[in-house]
Amino acid sequence: MKIARFSHDDAIMYGIIDDRELVVLAGDPMFSGYETTGARVPLTEVTLLAPVIPRSKVVCVGKNYHDHAAEMGGVAPEEPLLFLKPNTAVIGPDDAIVRPVALSERTEYEGELVVVIGRIAKNVKAENALDHVLGYTIGNDVTARDLQRKDGQWSRAKGFDTFCPLGPVIETDFDPAQATIETRVNGEVRQQAPLTDMIHSVAAIIEYASAVFTLLPGDVIMTGTPAGVGTFEAGDTIEVEISGLGILRNTARDAAPAS
Ligand code: MN
Repeated sequence: MKIARFSHDDAIMYGIIDDRELVVLAGDPMFSGYETTGARVPLTEVTLLAPVIPRSKVVCVGKNYHDHAAEMGGVAPEEPLLFLKPNTAVIGPDDAIVRPVALSERTEYEGELVVVIGRIAKNVKAENALDHVLGYTIGNDVTARDLQRKDGQWSRAKGFDTFCPLGPVIETDFDPAQATIETRVNGEVRQQAPLTDMIHSVAAIIEYASAVFTLLPGDVIMTGTPAGVGTFEAGDTIEVEISGLGILRNTARDAAPAS
């Protein structure tokens, strides 16, 4: 089942994709299940939005692929390396990634599989972890690489507005073991890997993270990026595709000078 969050006639709603239509839901599936209003809307008449705006946090895992850890000049840590992005960084499909050119000279993409939490998770064991997952979507962990290196911790580098594109939809029926991820800039392939290259599995990450903080419905976990990260410029289109989840597409522009 593919869940979309969308705007239509100035209203923001959730729906289930059924062929070329959306079956409109009465509420937010993170909190009120799948009750429908009875209405159906053609996909061509809606604007897809970020499928979830995390209520409390975007949890991220750094260096969760060996080849990416190597290209960053190190080895992958034995335990998942957790950091957070603010929910104000979230944008949706086709929204612009704004390069903070007054503060950073190097904005980079990181295509990633994203887990959407559906049930409260605290001290969850890996064997039960997937019971707490609503579904999966695609994310781009946009990073100001020069600030990441300069600051020593990553709040600024990972936290700018627009640095967390999510979408296009949440797929509830998805197995990472069967899928591949690919990132393209202006159609040119930059990252390509099977999701089985992830060092720490989704279940292991949920166990590790939920021992630290309570994961709430609507929180998301970005599971790390494979090798091939790199920079992009204003006007470039960045696509992250995961088989079975679709394509997350965003175009970049430069921030206007402060006035
Ligand atoms: Mn990342």
